[in-house]
Amino acid sequence: MGGIPAVSDLIRVSEIFGPTIQGEGALIGQPTVFVRTGGCDYRCSWCDSLHAVDAEHRHGWAPMSPEAVMAEVARCAGERPIMVTLSGGNPAIQPLGPLIAAGHARGYRFAMETQGSVARDWFGDLDMLVLSPKPPSSGMEVDWAAFDACLAAGQGAETVLKIVVFDAADYDWAREVAGRYPDLPLYLQPGNHTPPPPADDSAAVDHEGIDARMRWLVGRVVADGWYRATVLPQLHVTLWGNRRGV
Ligand code: SF4
Repeated sequence: MGGIPAVSDLIRVSEIFGPTIQGEGALIGQPTVFVRTGGCDYRCSWCDSLHAVDAEHRHGWAPMSPEAVMAEVARCAGERPIMVTLSGGNPAIQPLGPLIAAGHARGYRFAMETQGSVARDWFGDLDMLVLSPKPPSSGMEVDWAAFDACLAAGQGAETVLKIVVFDAADYDWAREVAGRYPDLPLYLQPGNHTPPPPADDSAAVDHEGIDARMRWLVGRVVADGWYRATVLPQLHVTLWGNRRGV
């Protein structure tokens, strides 16, 4: 039927930017282009991407076809295949399967991070699925049945766990979650307690506070002999603070 995509095929895009480096988790340091989708079924107390979460910003989320997203990604990357990072918001609530297929056909790879609340059959088409369940400090409650459905849907993708830790309660919770999924590679990350307000991406970051939390987290992991965990800071926050688009 012609070339006009159905509305249900359109992806709500908050921003596309790069190339830059992935600042956290298993792919830290790797060149990537980010596709940040708009909308999230969570509202974490310390969310650092409210411009892609709060409904009041939805006027800035462009409905784009998979072809239009790929064209912009390719333009950003200078037409050279690169790792594409799908983030949000919660990218799982967007129809991303056709985008992944179109990108793969051109040699691009795809990594996606989601909290694991909504499973999609295209998770298995990803090159990397980062499941990041939100700890108690987020104010959210994990639906473990939904999380397990995400894990099952991701069969075929390299899947890792990433848990943000703000305090001792989060740390204890992370240990429990890790015990539940003993076969998944595990990344721990100190939280940024000074996230940017949606309208001001230049808000100051408490680098000292984040560094202190990182040292505390490393200390706990080492003291507990938790050698399965990889502890990483958010490299982009260290380098660029809360600035957007880097
Ligand atoms: S799941 Fe992620 S994007 Fe959604 S509210 Fe929580 S931190 Fe923000």
